[in-house]
Amino acid sequence: MFLFLLDEIRRRKTHIFCTTEQNIHNNSGNMQRSSKRKQEEQPEEDKTEQPPQKETTPASGNSTIGDITDFTTQAFKNVVAATRACNAFPQGTARSLYLSYPGYSRVIDDLSQRLVGLIGNVVQVEEVKGDIKKCQMEEQFELVQECNDILFERITTNLDIKAGQRRNPHMVLETQVDVLSSSPTKAAAANTETPKAGSWNRWPPTPQRNMLSARLFTAKNIIRPQMNFKEPVDNSDQNPFTPRLREKPNSLKPLAMLPEYDEAGNVHSYLHPYEFELMKFEPSAGQLQRQTPVLPRPPASTELMLVDSVEKLNQALEELRQAPHIAIDVEHHSYRTFMGITCLVQMSTRTKDYIFDSLALREEMHVLNLVLTDPKKLKILHGADQDIEWLQRDLSLYIVNMFDTHRAAKALNMARLSLAFLLKHYVDLDVDKSLQLADWRMRPLPQQLIDYARQDTHYLIYVYERMTNDLLQSEQGQPQALRSVFQLSTEVCKKRYSKPHIGPESHLDLVRKTKRSFDNRQLHALRGIFEWRDATARQEDESYGYVLPNHMMLQIAESLPREMQGILACCNPIPPLVRQQLHTLHQIVLKAREQPLVKPILEARSQPQGLPPSSKDYSSKLYCPHDFTHLEETRDDLPTLLKRNASGRLQLPAVKEQPKEHVPLAVPAMALFAKPAAHTPEEEMRLVHLRKESQVLRMPYKRYLAILPLMQQLKADQQARDRTELAKRRLCPAAPTPEDIKLESATGKVEPEDPVYSLPLKEQLKRKHKPDPDQHPSSSKRLREGNSKPKAEAVLAVKNETIACISDDDDDAVVEVPIEKQRAAQAAEAPSKRQQKRQQFQRFRGGKARGNHPQSSSQPVQQQPKPQGNNFDYKNVDFRQFKGGAQRARGTEIKHTIRGRNRPNNRNNKQFNKLFTFSNVRKEGKK
Ligand code: AMP
Ligand code: MN
Ligand code: ZN
Repeated sequence: MFLFLLDEIRRRKTHIFCTTEQNIHNNSGNMQRSSKRKQEEQPEEDKTEQPPQKETTPASGNSTIGDITDFTTQAFKNVVAATRACNAFPQGTARSLYLSYPGYSRVIDDLSQRLVGLIGNVVQVEEVKGDIKKCQMEEQFELVQECNDILFERITTNLDIKAGQRRNPHMVLETQVDVLSSSPTKAAAANTETPKAGSWNRWPPTPQRNMLSARLFTAKNIIRPQMNFKEPVDNSDQNPFTPRLREKPNSLKPLAMLPEYDEAGNVHSYLHPYEFELMKFEPSAGQLQRQTPVLPRPPASTELMLVDSVEKLNQALEELRQAPHIAIDVEHHSYRTFMGITCLVQMSTRTKDYIFDSLALREEMHVLNLVLTDPKKLKILHGADQDIEWLQRDLSLYIVNMFDTHRAAKALNMARLSLAFLLKHYVDLDVDKSLQLADWRMRPLPQQLIDYARQDTHYLIYVYERMTNDLLQSEQGQPQALRSVFQLSTEVCKKRYSKPHIGPESHLDLVRKTKRSFDNRQLHALRGIFEWRDATARQEDESYGYVLPNHMMLQIAESLPREMQGILACCNPIPPLVRQQLHTLHQIVLKAREQPLVKPILEARSQPQGLPPSSKDYSSKLYCPHDFTHLEETRDDLPTLLKRNASGRLQLPAVKEQPKEHVPLAVPAMALFAKPAAHTPEEEMRLVHLRKESQVLRMPYKRYLAILPLMQQLKADQQARDRTELAKRRLCPAAPTPEDIKLESATGKVEPEDPVYSLPLKEQLKRKHKPDPDQHPSSSKRLREGNSKPKAEAVLAVKNETIACISDDDDDAVVEVPIEKQRAAQAAEAPSKRQQKRQQFQRFRGGKARGNHPQSSSQPVQQQPKPQGNNFDYKNVDFRQFKGGAQRARGTEIKHTIRGRNRPNNRNNKQFNKLFTFSNVRKEGKK
């Protein structure tokens, strides 16, 4: 019903507003017919349909409804009434209940079918394919939807026509826009010429830049030329641009498409079809001589040929074959296409101008290669770099023997290099370049554009002749400069077109250019949008600028809008494809928002800033490697530990509280600087002394002297310990001290079947404890101090700590000395934890050794009375047996305890590892 009303609205509108356009007339005639048909069916309609029915008196309807507002008000009322009536029908369970009454069900069925029939009529009138009566429910909805779309489209069009926007689909739009000129204006330049004395500050020293007027010259509803291309364009990134040349006139080598491969073995590009010919090209002697410039007649009195058919093209070709010089220019469109379209090719001989419609003759223009690649004919272009690419891409046209007036202007060191400047300079012509950006796809070509296009080539041959003479003159008649211009121009001819390509980092270039700082989320979004834009542009054959201009893309990536509306808010005006694919873009932004936030460091593309280029004169006094002031920008985007809080203020990172542990080992020599809670006066004195000591720089020899007394003392201590140990051993051989084991392990030479064991015990002991300076590595010496006597114990504890915390360098000993002494004193006063552990360990060891090795020799030893003095009966003891068992047990335990709890340094570890291996060896040996 709503559909019907809409159609009515549309019909009325076309009646009221569209009387001028013939095609609309046709439409409305069609519509009138349809509404007539509807009229016939109206009597069957629901009551709510009455008002429109009343008003549908075709053709004369204009008189009954004077005002569209009245009509829409009325129509809206009807829609509301109809909706209300619909809602009055029972719904849900009530509906099911009602439908169970056959009478009700029948009526509803009839009504539904009639309604579907009515809709079907509307759908049919709108020429939507498909019979609604035969469709499933879903398809019916689709049909209605499609029909609605068509109706809406027509309503919009009609409204546009009413607003006067679409009266003439070929209407030319012309808008003047002011853009800042990139070069100083003539007026400003003139001003700077004559500064008056004493008025130095009246004229700005820099020439003022002037606003230039550019004309946007386009038309509404230009048909996309791509639609009519016989061979569709291939925008894909995978396939390289492939030359489509089928014939090769003026060839020195036959035509061949020679591919070039990339590292992956894919075709990367094709060689230039005229590569060889261009390589062989040499300008003729005549071209390197002075010319006789002939100023052409003005365009108004020169013949112009608009070439837009094959016949005209052939005729033009014949004429061009007679001309020794041809001036060429190309006009191009790049906004509503991905790769660009060559829209116009202008050519001029001395006597005639040609304008080729390269949209109409896209597939035929290649015949012009006959003259363009003819090395005997000179082609003159201005700034041909792009023209060369466009010609080969769209028209398969190549040029051999070219003179580029832009290169010539460069060679002549001219003040400016534009064609406008050259025309002013040589022809004294003020040309209007404001139409440069016109939409050259317009057809038929407006006269302004024809005139404009023509002037680009009309005087070019004359300009070339003047420039040739100037070039020869600049070299006193020598043709070097001229030859060089020809060489450079030939290089331009060798240019090959390649498709636009984006790499994984292309979006970063954009960020670098804007000098904005993007975080990883923003970069993620930018990359996503960048890739979306590339894919969309290729697929829709539109330019990046049309799909989504850079500034909008950066805006979206920077603000990362949560809502779809936010994306639209970043764009003004909203690009049609953005609106169309808003959902896709939104998904990209949402994905980026999910990324964990990391502040990125954008790698600079160029050289790292710290490294100066190698061309630097390092001997120069002015060279300073740490002076970065000459660099463009300073990096202030490096990550720091500083973070901003919610209010945007910088926060210092929270310092983690280190758990305070009383690890006995962890009090290193740094105690020098630590402040203990309280010190006794002596300690205080000592510390003061230490502090002083630490501040004095001592030479190594002085250090050596300082350490000498200590060394002597240590030596004396050592000897004393050795003596006591020996004595003790004599007293109690049943409990060999750990150093027994260590001795063996350190020397590492005692094998299970060592002949020593077969000797009498006395002899064994003698051999074992004989001080053997050669056989004692320093490590074993240290460990040997681990005596069970209290004094020795204390020393061991201190020693172990020192070992654990400081290196063994003798130099450090100077610092160690006092601490060690202090420690030793402390240890003597009260048994340290370490000592307690050691005692525990020893107790444990004894028990374990006995318990674990019942068959070991420890058992008979136990049965012996406690050793008393020297009267121990060695002869009755199987010492060999005892030793093995005890040693093995102890070895394992020592390793265990010390490794697990006291964590000695590596040296100790090694020691115990050796020990362990040793006992293992013994064990195996015994087996
Ligand atoms: P011209 O050689 O000056 O006739 O320019 C040839 C084509 O280059 C024009 O049709 C434009 O498509 C394009 N073009 C020239 N100047 C510009 C410019 N400033 N910006 C963008 N495109 C340009
Ligand atoms: Mn040009
Ligand atoms: Zn041009």
